[in-house]
Amino acid sequence: MQIAQDKTPHALLLSGQQGIGKWHFAESLADYLLCLSPKADLACGQCRSCQLRLAGTHPDKKWCMPDEPGKAIKIDQVRELSGFIAKTSQQGGKKVVLLGPVEQLNINSANALLKSLEEPAGDTILILVTHVLSGVMATIRSRCQLLPLASPSTDVALEWLQQLQVEDASTLLRLSGGAPLIAKNMVEGDYLDHLTVFISILERLSNPSTTPESPDVSMANQWLPLSINHLTDWWLQLIHSILTEAAIEASLAEEDSAVSSTHQNSLSVSQGVARILYAGRTFNKQWLCKFSDKLLALRQQQLSGANPNMQLLVEELLLDWQIIVQRS
Ligand SMILES: [Zn+2]
Repeated sequence: MQIAQDKTPHALLLSGQQGIGKWHFAESLADYLLCLSPKADLACGQCRSCQLRLAGTHPDKKWCMPDEPGKAIKIDQVRELSGFIAKTSQQGGKKVVLLGPVEQLNINSANALLKSLEEPAGDTILILVTHVLSGVMATIRSRCQLLPLASPSTDVALEWLQQLQVEDASTLLRLSGGAPLIAKNMVEGDYLDHLTVFISILERLSNPSTTPESPDVSMANQWLPLSINHLTDWWLQLIHSILTEAAIEASLAEEDSAVSSTHQNSLSVSQGVARILYAGRTFNKQWLCKFSDKLLALRQQQLSGANPNMQLLVEELLLDWQIIVQRS
């Protein structure tokens, strides 16, 4: 893509699925725009501006993102931007703001951003990033040049993950909704342990012959350390896979091949996923859709700062799932 340094629009809105590298792209673009002698569409890495940036002290580059992942971008953070925009550039070049995810602006901070977009920005370029374009206010969208970024194909994503030697890349890629960066992060920290707990419980519940008659408190307890965001994301991806038949054929083939895997965690995860998808063939599609709406609503409430009783919530969700399984 060609973006001439002197012809960049005042505000760009990068959109695309989460985990495909939009932030990496936005950062490179910002670095290029700040560079005093860019070479072949890239920052030179050597000029005064690049050196400041590499040291993390560039005065003309500003980030505006939630304090914690999944939380809202606050109005005070957006208000700070207008001061930054009004100042003249300290290095004599452009100033760049990186802001996102735009859908995580609450109504007040979105209105504050709108004001910044309406005012003359001089030498400032705003690079906005969104994972959910439909979640961005139309008035914000209409003031930006849209730049949709496509997701990589499954083959390309798999090849990249395999180069990084990520075990069971195809299962993780499915649970991440085809987003390679999310799939890669799944093997870090205790993420995979949590995922294993999630899948093993859900696998037991998804088989009509092994699902208990009544809610099982010990199962719910095992899910308590999981974050609501992870729980809802994984569950939504599984339901999406169940509802798209093609995924099930693929996962059955995968279960056979997974036996050769050496990684104990991902071995049980990919087998568990395959069994859930297999059992899911008989689930009532309408109930699955209804349940997935419930999970989406939960996700929204989390964004607006809800703090539900995790124990009650998990028991309720498990019971919903048991009912879907038992009535199939
Ligand atoms: Zn440079």
